[in-house]
Amino acid sequence: MTASEALKIVAECGLNIEGTAHDEVMIQIKSALEKQIPKKPVIEKGQKIFYIQCGSCPECKGRVYSSANCFCHKCGQAIDWSDDNA
Ligand SMILES: [Zn+2]
Repeated sequence: MTASEALKIVAECGLNIEGTAHDEVMIQIKSALEKQIPKKPVIEKGQKIFYIQCGSCPECKGRVYSSANCFCHKCGQAIDWSDDNA
């Protein structure tokens, strides 16, 4: 099951938990799942150093590098570098 599919199921649950501790937990679960769905980094001009692409995390604006890994080291957001390696 992908994070997107899990999020859809969580949304479909329709539990009436607003204002309860369960609601807090659900918010954290949703946030964690959303971060697993890769997002495109914010690329500014002149940020390409040799073959390494760098940019900013779309969530926390932290610096991310294509050579490092597929997650922002600051907030854990998955980063999608596809099509940017040309
Ligand atoms: Zn981040």
